[in-house]
Amino acid sequence: MTQNEYEQIDLLAFGAHPDDVEVGCGGLLLKLRKRGYKTGIVVLTQGEMGTGGTPELRRQEVIDAAEIMGASVLAHLDMGDCRLEDNYNSRLEAARYIRRHRPRIVLAPWWTGGHGKRASHPDHLACGRIAMNAINYSTLKKLPVEEPPHAVSGLFHYFLPPEVAPTFIVDITQEFDDWIKALSAHKSQFLNPEKNRDYLWSLESMARGYGGQIGVKYGQGYAIGEPLKIEDPFCLVGSCSRVPEFYQFRKIADES
Ligand SMILES: [Zn+2]
Repeated sequence: MTQNEYEQIDLLAFGAHPDDVEVGCGGLLLKLRKRGYKTGIVVLTQGEMGTGGTPELRRQEVIDAAEIMGASVLAHLDMGDCRLEDNYNSRLEAARYIRRHRPRIVLAPWWTGGHGKRASHPDHLACGRIAMNAINYSTLKKLPVEEPPHAVSGLFHYFLPPEVAPTFIVDITQEFDDWIKALSAHKSQFLNPEKNRDYLWSLESMARGYGGQIGVKYGQGYAIGEPLKIEDPFCLVGSCSRVPEFYQFRKIADES
């Protein structure tokens, strides 16, 4: 299923399973929407191996959650839950979505790890690698994809294993209630009476853990795999807009 097939967006989030993007980046997507950015979601599998829900139910939950997060683009593919592989075909398919929607930023799970739970489910690792390689593929002129090449400016990873410190943490305190609403759209996963674990509590704890590291109530952490190219380090601390004032000051100083 695909909505808004060729709309240009600012950020594209890849997830292996129907709830991955909500869990790892829901607060950030909500925040960016409020700031006027357009976001999109590509889910690579139907989540048919999940203990709760059916593929049909989970497809609807993806739609409901994407609506709550205000995503402009949603694609839900069927690459096989627990069979997701980083190979030529999956890279090509992911590159197709990158070229169609031309995002500046891509989000995807961390791509390496080994103990088998959330941060290193083999599908999550594969999704991270697929996104990483698809970003490279999407720049290749001869790639057999109809849409023209596109270069992404940054790839940020979520679902960080314990040994990976976040490069940055986004304050999602204001978005927390809506984030819980987006997570709750995945009723078969997080509000399923057949499951005895309190998933929403553990996700809130994760957000508190990240928030505590930057002195706010709730946060979401991201890490990068290669250095970022920076023109102005003030952009990293939220004050890029002072650049024109600086030039104005210099001009006045030169004249006197
Ligand atoms: Zn998952």
